[in-house]
Amino acid sequence: MALPVAEWQGRTARLWAALEPALRERLEAASLQDAVRLGCDVLRSEEEEEEAALVQLCHRALTDKKPEAASWYREQGNQEFKRGRYQAALRLYSKAASHELPGSPEVSVCFANRSAALLHLGHFEVCLEDIARAESHGYPDRLLPKVLLRKAECLLCLGRLQDAQDVLRMLESKIALDGAMTTHLTRLQKLSQLKVKLGEKEKCPEPARGEHGGTQGEPEIWEENSRISGASSSLSLSFNADRGRHLVASQDIMAGQSLVKEEAFVSVLCPGDSLALQHGDTAWDTRATNADLYCHRCLRQLLASVPCQGCSYAKYCSQDCADRAWQQYHRTECPLGALLLTLGVFCHVALRTVLLAGYAEVSRLVEMSHHGDRNLQNPEGSCRPLSEAADAGAGSRGVPGCDSNGRYQSSYQALFHLLPHTEQHSPEHKFLCTLSVVALCKQLQAAGLEAAVLSQESPQQCSKPKTCEKTSEELSPELKTVAEAMLRHVLQLQCNAQAITVMQELGPGDGAVVDKKPVRLATAFFPVLSLLNHSCCPNTSVSFSGTSATVRAAQPISSGQEVLHCYGPHWCRMRVAERQQLLRQYFFECRCPACLQELESGVKSVLSIRNSFCCPKCQAQMQGEEDTLCCSNEACATLASRDHLSGRLQDLQQEIKKALELLRVGKADQAIKKLLKCQMDAGTFLSPEHLLMGEMEDHLAQVYATVGKWQEAARHLKKSIEIVEMHHGPSSVETGHELFKLAQILFNGFAVSEALSTIQRAEGILSVHFGPQSAQMQELQEMKACLSELPRNILQRT
Ligand SMILES: [Zn+2]
Ligand SMILES: [Zn+2]
Ligand SMILES: [Zn+2]
Ligand SMILES: [Zn+2]
Repeated sequence: MALPVAEWQGRTARLWAALEPALRERLEAASLQDAVRLGCDVLRSEEEEEEAALVQLCHRALTDKKPEAASWYREQGNQEFKRGRYQAALRLYSKAASHELPGSPEVSVCFANRSAALLHLGHFEVCLEDIARAESHGYPDRLLPKVLLRKAECLLCLGRLQDAQDVLRMLESKIALDGAMTTHLTRLQKLSQLKVKLGEKEKCPEPARGEHGGTQGEPEIWEENSRISGASSSLSLSFNADRGRHLVASQDIMAGQSLVKEEAFVSVLCPGDSLALQHGDTAWDTRATNADLYCHRCLRQLLASVPCQGCSYAKYCSQDCADRAWQQYHRTECPLGALLLTLGVFCHVALRTVLLAGYAEVSRLVEMSHHGDRNLQNPEGSCRPLSEAADAGAGSRGVPGCDSNGRYQSSYQALFHLLPHTEQHSPEHKFLCTLSVVALCKQLQAAGLEAAVLSQESPQQCSKPKTCEKTSEELSPELKTVAEAMLRHVLQLQCNAQAITVMQELGPGDGAVVDKKPVRLATAFFPVLSLLNHSCCPNTSVSFSGTSATVRAAQPISSGQEVLHCYGPHWCRMRVAERQQLLRQYFFECRCPACLQELESGVKSVLSIRNSFCCPKCQAQMQGEEDTLCCSNEACATLASRDHLSGRLQDLQQEIKKALELLRVGKADQAIKKLLKCQMDAGTFLSPEHLLMGEMEDHLAQVYATVGKWQEAARHLKKSIEIVEMHHGPSSVETGHELFKLAQILFNGFAVSEALSTIQRAEGILSVHFGPQSAQMQELQEMKACLSELPRNILQRT
């Protein structure tokens, strides 16, 4: 997903192998500038074949608007609507709208249909927006009464009586003009009844919701650092040959304290798995991808998306986001949608980075990198004394990426100074990146988008570029500069890409207990966050809200200690060998306490013991690195084949999937039976501490919760929590999420005192990771407030 599709990778690898050895050598040693130049030459001589291949690959990623897809999606939406599945209908109408041409009567019908689903779901404000959208896109006049009725109903639900009356009056006169329409008249009667009801309500308004401190989280202490934008004043920026740039606590820091709050310089939504390019004909997919669920620009969750005017891929939370994205980058990206999906997220981030930075800044920094700014070639690896670095323009304190005042800011300049590790990438990888970037720039030129890239001010006339096919033309010098910057960014991303993750709700989202799992939403550059070095046992925790990241201390950090963050391979989830393997992409060997301990002691990590198989006879742990495992209990000494046990594990996972599928289609009883059977089976060959044992308990809790058996649900969840705590630690995010679920279950089951104590524990953990103002914390507060309002006799009973 980050890199280009496999076929393009394969082509460039074959091309690389077929190059003349002399050229290969030149490419290997080439600077970024020369790499672009040589890449252009290679593509020019191979041009027709390679570019035809790329065009072919692009046909699989569909981003064009296809009216025939629109009508298909709309029909599917209508079917879901009739079945009363309004959420599903909503998504399908959105997909339909994204394929219709803007301003067409068809797209207005999509919005109107969607407004009906929104009304049923109780999203009245958004429903009104969709009705307005339908009207502005030329909704057919003859269908207008239907929509006006909906509008009136919506306004009534919102208590906007006067507005509702105005709409009704308009409707009445319209109907009078059109002649009697009895169907509408019956609806009108229904509405006048509603009006009466509402009038009564207004006479005796409901008591205003009490101010019982629902949002009482204390404001966080936050003082911004004067030298590093977005960082807390309790940090300082250090630089040495060994650790590169890094952040150090300049005073004692409490657990939960915010250390960095940074808005991404650039971020690109990941298309997600389901948009994986398919072979053969594309059946239109009714599943929701990231692009259907999150705003293309701000990553906010979508309810009623605003489609891009040009493509079916980009969808926005609002017209404002759509307009801003168009202005900033999407007018250039839109015509290249399929190519960007084919070349992968890293290329896309690289392009958007230069578009956001603007050509003037891009060429300034590229130029500077050519003229002896040595710290750009190798900003961190060298052991130059700091004074020398300072006169190389690196800033008053000798730290690369700082501005002339010695301030490190989340800017393009700082981003440009992130390490590209030009020498450490494999030559094949560099070649792949070079050809991809050059191909993208050639396409930009061929599509007449060069002006849009080079001038930020370029007006709307670029929106409909001419799609001429003259890709054979040499890249202009300006586009070569752009390509060079993009190549740098693609190479930087391997070490500096930050995944933006969110907790995505699983299932239909209407359950009393919300189950969530983390998903990768976007890839981004965060220049300040990038200053943090990695540890497999980090002392911070990172959370995201839209495109902004917050780093908090996960534990007390004393003055002088380095502030560290985990790039992915956490000691709780992987063994040291796997971690070191993954960390190789960052070109360093991890020497964090967890790695040192595991490497030196030679002891198997706790992880491998916990996630091990157990003896089918005596339940002791099975041992051995070979194909045959042996029971660790000497008296037993039972042997078993590793393949056999692994096979059983896979079968078990399949069965668990089937159980969850049963739950999804509403067969809870069968799901419980299947899960209990799985548990029995697992007990005969998995260690009781195996993560899967915990997952099964968690699933059981979920099923019991859906049928309202709260006590059973709580019992299973507590077992799951024990295992999660063992694997991830008692104050980990994972444990926090499990406790949050337990609080919901206890809350629903009226186990008041236990619910309150669980809420307190969950708060303790989640406030450290997400801060006191986070959505989870607010929900916990609301639960607490609700419980404390219960009559005293219920409280005493528990
Ligand atoms: Zn948005
Ligand atoms: Zn578009
Ligand atoms: Zn480590
Ligand atoms: Zn045994």
